[in-house]
Amino acid sequence: MLDMTTKEMIDRSGIIINPCKTCQPVGAIYAALGVHRCMPHSHGSQGCVSFHRMYLTRHFKEPAIASTSSFTEGASVFGGGSNLKTAVKNIFDIYDPDIIAVHTTCLSETIGDDLNAYIQDMDIPDGKFVIHTNTPSYVGSHISGFSNMMCGFIKYLSKSTDAKNGRAAIFPGFVNPGDIREVKRLAELMGVGYTMFPDTSGVMDAPMTGKYEMYPRGGTTIPEIVSLGDCDRAFGLGVITNEQPAKDLERKCSVPYSLLRLPIGVAATDEFISALSHYSKNEVPYPLEEERGQLVDIMLDAHQYYYKKSVAIYGDPDTVLGLTSLVLEMGMIPKYVLTGTTKEDFVRMSESLFLAYGVDGCRAKAAGDLFLLHQWIKNDPVDLMIGGTHGKQIARAENIPLIRAGFPIIDRYVHSYMPIVGYRGAMRLIEMISNALMDQQDRDCADEDVEIVM
Ligand code: SF4
Repeated sequence: MLDMTTKEMIDRSGIIINPCKTCQPVGAIYAALGVHRCMPHSHGSQGCVSFHRMYLTRHFKEPAIASTSSFTEGASVFGGGSNLKTAVKNIFDIYDPDIIAVHTTCLSETIGDDLNAYIQDMDIPDGKFVIHTNTPSYVGSHISGFSNMMCGFIKYLSKSTDAKNGRAAIFPGFVNPGDIREVKRLAELMGVGYTMFPDTSGVMDAPMTGKYEMYPRGGTTIPEIVSLGDCDRAFGLGVITNEQPAKDLERKCSVPYSLLRLPIGVAATDEFISALSHYSKNEVPYPLEEERGQLVDIMLDAHQYYYKKSVAIYGDPDTVLGLTSLVLEMGMIPKYVLTGTTKEDFVRMSESLFLAYGVDGCRAKAAGDLFLLHQWIKNDPVDLMIGGTHGKQIARAENIPLIRAGFPIIDRYVHSYMPIVGYRGAMRLIEMISNALMDQQDRDCADEDVEIVM
């Protein structure tokens, strides 16, 4: 076992220890679940899709449906074409989705299956669709898989008729259904007609009705995806996740796009609201101004608990950048920001945030892992950690409070219903951050037998 007490950093290039990401198909399945009456399909062995479904189910506490080509030795040697053909027929016969969204796995990518050719060669029932994307998991992360699946839907379905539909396409990125509902509420308050793509609200937060619905009410419909090509403009919330889908839609259907930061915190939410206002020519309504003012008031009220406190933030790149922006607005020091996704833009964007707020000595890392984060914290501790469940061993070992935000959160409930985006999401984060720091202060005082005067 590696000695975590060492002060020396171990230089690694060929091994990841405690990854801060998961594999591409997890993101591809999540994107496909955001399409109404869609069956995500994993072209590979059963073990892959069991893991992907389990991973999503543990975070969302909802069944994550997906089918598989069920590769065995034969398909691994001779190719998975006939498995896919049989699977597609069975899925339409038995589960009756409107669309099957196929993604590849490491195995089918390694043997070089040509999904495009297989799909061209299939008998697809009238009115039904099969689309695909490539998700080789030895590169990228679940975030790349999510983007790739969005691109797959756009490539197969979106069309421009040269008649604009008067709607904005909003790409919310890899966020919880609660965040998507909040983005919709903001767009509605701004009087903007929109198509949300993908939209996992109403799917991965569907209500208990007493009857299992394989395809709940939510999700972007197929006509809406087709009509993305007629939208006036696309807004990608999260530059890293949405850059490729926005570019693909522009290239295919000439839809202009704006890439914005994921609206976490005051400035990033302001940017989103301003972009909607600019697009719609609508004034910002008073209820939004009021929410923003409440948020700033809360920040001032509680600032003595978090001002100059240092924090380590880890997780998905756009979420980490959003959280970094929020903690900087709060006067905290984001000493370490780390993502497992391989995107050097992440480092550049983090460093420009450090520069904008004049903080020194902060470190940003793309393609990092939680072992590295632990080494950094061992050598120079922080007051708080923000990220998913997998950081909890570090938090426990170093006696640092952990705020769970992002993906995956497998040891808590309700989080996927609650937004971290928008002004309201920021209020919730500030509540969690200040409570955690106050609780830690109480514990430290109790350890030192100091009386707390309220
Ligand atoms: S083999 Fe590849 S696709 Fe399958 S679970 Fe592992 S990393 Fe993911």
